[in-house]
Amino acid sequence: MAAKVRAPKGGEGAHGRLRERSRAMRGSSFPNLGAPANIGGLRLSSRVLMGSMHLGSEGARARAADLSRFYEERVRGGAAMIITGGVAVSPEGGGDHYFVITEPDQRAVLHEVVEAVHAGGGKIAMQLFHAGRYTRRAETGYQPVSASEVPSPIFPDPPRALRADEVEGVVDAFAQAGRWAAELDFDAVEVMGSEGYLLNQFFSPLTNRRDDAWGERGRLPVAVTRALRSAVGIPIIYRLSGDDLMPGSSTPEETDELARALVAAGADALNVGIGWHESRVPTVGMLVPRGTFAPIAGRIRRAVAAQVPVICSNRINTPEVAEAVLAAGQADFVALARPFLADPAFARKALRGAPEAINTCVACNQACLDRILGKPPAPVTCLVNPAAGREAEFAWPRAARARRVAVVGAGPAGLEAARVLGERGHRVTLFEREADIGGQLRYAMAVPGKQEFSETLRYYRHELDRLGVGVELGVEPSAGDLAAHATVVVATGVRPRIPDLPGVDLPHVATYADILSGRVVAGERVAIIGAGGVGCDVAHFLVEDGEPPTVERFWSEYGDGAVAPRRQVTLLRRGGRLGERLGRTTRWALLAALARRGVAMRGGVGYAAIEPTGVRLLDGELIAADTVVLACGQEAVVPYTGHVIGGARTPLELDARRAIEEGARLAGSL
Ligand code: SF4
Repeated sequence: MAAKVRAPKGGEGAHGRLRERSRAMRGSSFPNLGAPANIGGLRLSSRVLMGSMHLGSEGARARAADLSRFYEERVRGGAAMIITGGVAVSPEGGGDHYFVITEPDQRAVLHEVVEAVHAGGGKIAMQLFHAGRYTRRAETGYQPVSASEVPSPIFPDPPRALRADEVEGVVDAFAQAGRWAAELDFDAVEVMGSEGYLLNQFFSPLTNRRDDAWGERGRLPVAVTRALRSAVGIPIIYRLSGDDLMPGSSTPEETDELARALVAAGADALNVGIGWHESRVPTVGMLVPRGTFAPIAGRIRRAVAAQVPVICSNRINTPEVAEAVLAAGQADFVALARPFLADPAFARKALRGAPEAINTCVACNQACLDRILGKPPAPVTCLVNPAAGREAEFAWPRAARARRVAVVGAGPAGLEAARVLGERGHRVTLFEREADIGGQLRYAMAVPGKQEFSETLRYYRHELDRLGVGVELGVEPSAGDLAAHATVVVATGVRPRIPDLPGVDLPHVATYADILSGRVVAGERVAIIGAGGVGCDVAHFLVEDGEPPTVERFWSEYGDGAVAPRRQVTLLRRGGRLGERLGRTTRWALLAALARRGVAMRGGVGYAAIEPTGVRLLDGELIAADTVVLACGQEAVVPYTGHVIGGARTPLELDARRAIEEGARLAGSL
């Protein structure tokens, strides 16, 4: 059942304005983004911050050179200030791959990072955090702690309530961490008080049920801020939760009151976080329209009468949206995290008036959050920028000798191969038999929320043009065409696999490609054979009405859960787990969205035949359907000889992340 959450007041109108401004600003400069401003006494060159993001490469095994290079590239790419991933203020507050400030060796690594950022002309803030009940005993060696003994449904170990003297110890730990940050030459600190971490746990009535003085819910956040103010002269940013997106948690009025108290306690800026990790409302995925949460930052900015700068984050992935947030008075700064993974030069490109050159974060989470949260966890990288987090490994040299290279197929693998080859100085021709570039990405763009991939194609068009790559559309090259090239890269992709099933040739049977391309329009009742990621996407496409997700629809769906599906859809799968290969951060949200739209999900079935009236299962049951869609995997299409990459090489579940990385690696090696 959908969580009942409140739509922020003014959200709908504000988003309408955002979209209008977004259109109006495209191609022009971004005067608000480019305006210098202060946080406390710290002068920042623009309003674009790189927000805090855990990279999975911090902690005891961190390599100073790699981290320094990662951050330095973002500084050179125009980020006015970097905010690090959370640095635990004490050992029990962090976990594997987190820095712990009490460790001298780790402070030394952090100092090297600061020096690199400063050498690049940038600024850097350390985020101080304590995860409280969002920790694992297996990682920290301690039982998790919290305000009260309220377990989290997404973490295995129940917490114990901190004693009053231990809460004082938490205050001291934050203050001491701030002193260390200042000693290490950080330019500012950010206190992590949102996303359901310890300070947020103390502020929420869901997790703070204490009857001592610390049961006054704002007391710990304010005490930490006050102690830090006494401890350090550098600016203090407090990241508070604008809305926990948890039924029964803090009200907007309580949150506004906390914001005022934090400013009175000495916070120099407020960064507005959204949602707890266990919230059943998505906050960072593709299903969240751009700028959805900006009105909440605007509310907090009004609550503190703009006495201090307010920073807005979450689903701001283009300079147009960022500029609109600032122009609407919803925030003074924007903090972008994943967009700086996708393009380290996001800010520089925006501020020099070249937004079309930006490689846009598509909010897929596939190569960043899903890797961090994977089993085992892996450091972040990026689907559209495989060099992210691996800058040294992907720093391809210019080719010693320029060669003529043919790349056949302009799907994700071929596009990236052509781009990197062009960047390295080769003379590249990209052949595509369809009338446009994109390959399977064009199907993905039809799926609700995945329209963001149109930005990826815009980026590649820009890059191929900039690099002088010849693009031949509507062309299947002959052997003679290819013979004129020294090297051939075969990125010809996949075609849908047709299962060996009686009735598969019936006229009401279509492939996923037929449906997502619009070549076939499905009937009222649809059965989908295959419920992997593609099958789930097709189901989502079929039950939506084709309109792009809007903020109004988002809040309507997550407010009352009422959604009218366009069709009656049944997803069928032989195995038991639907959407098995979908990422951890997106699978639950997509399956919940399908369930709200009445999609029937049947795992563990066997197919006897496709009949004119539906799909006959082995147990005799008929799944009635006017249209039967095949989403049973892919087969490679390899009509040429050469270096084979992408789906043509590994036609498993469609995987743009793997395809783009393969394209880059091959092109880097030629
Ligand atoms: Fe954005 Fe996806 Fe890249 Fe993560 S992997 S930064 S969500 S494009």
